[in-house]
Amino acid sequence: MNKENEIRSVLDHYLPQVEQEDSILKGNLLGKDENRFIIENPNAFIIGLIADQSVKAEIAWSLPYRLKMRLNSFDFDYIVNSLTMEDLEGVIKEKPALHRYPHKMAIYIYKAMEKILREYNGNASEIWNEQSADVIVKRFEEFDGISHKKASLGTLLLIRDLHQEINNKQYIDIAYDVHIRRIFLRMGLVKKDTQDNVIEVAKKINPDFPGELTTSFWAIGRHFCHPTNPECDGCPLHDCCREYSYVLEKRT
Ligand code: SF4
Repeated sequence: MNKENEIRSVLDHYLPQVEQEDSILKGNLLGKDENRFIIENPNAFIIGLIADQSVKAEIAWSLPYRLKMRLNSFDFDYIVNSLTMEDLEGVIKEKPALHRYPHKMAIYIYKAMEKILREYNGNASEIWNEQSADVIVKRFEEFDGISHKKASLGTLLLIRDLHQEINNKQYIDIAYDVHIRRIFLRMGLVKKDTQDNVIEVAKKINPDFPGELTTSFWAIGRHFCHPTNPECDGCPLHDCCREYSYVLEKRT
C-alpha cells in the first residue's frame, strides 16, 4: 500500500469516532441555543463562518447567537438600516467581547449582511441551494473575511453538519489550518508549508473529497499533535509519520 492509501485507510477508521465529538455543530462545542441558531438559520451560519478566525471555533460559532441576543434581532435588513458599522463594532466590543478583533469583524459582518441583502434576497441559503461545490466555494470567497481555507471549511460543514446534498466534492479542498499544516510537516507529507503543497497532497490522499480530511487531521492536531510534546504513541497516524520514526529511533 502506498503512503497516501495507508493514511486514507487510517483516517477512514478514525473519522467516525471524531465526526460527532469534534464537529463544531454536531458535538458539544456550542451551547444548545447557539447550536440550534446556526443549524436553523443560514444567515447565522455564514456569520459564524466569517467569525471563525483567530479565535477558538466555539467562540466564533457562538457569536451569531450572542450578537442576536445583544441586538434583540438578527434581521439583516433591520440591522444595516438601523446601525452603522461603528455601532456594530461597539456591540461586538461590549464586555465580554464577542471576538478578539471587533473592528475587523464588524466590517466583515456588516459587509456580508449588505451583500446577502443585495445579492441573495436576504437569505444566505441562496448561496448554496442547488449549487455544486465549486460554485459554493467561489461564492464564499467573494465575501470579505472568507479565505479559501474558510470557503472550503464552510462547504464541508454544509455537507457534514447541515446535511446539504452537494455535488462535485472533489473541488472542496482540505482547510489550510494551523493544526493540519503542523501535521503535514511533521509527517513529511510536504517539504515546505504552503497552502498549495498541503492542498495538492490532500488531493492525492482523498481525490474524490479532499476536504473530508479536514475533520480527522484537525482532531488529531487538537488531541495528539500539539505544537510541543506531541502525544505520538496514541496518535492514529503514527505508523505513517516521519517524526514518529525519529522518536522510535531515539528510544532504541
Ligand atoms: S505521530 Fe506524532 S508527530 Fe506524527 S502526526 Fe501523530 S502526533 Fe504528530
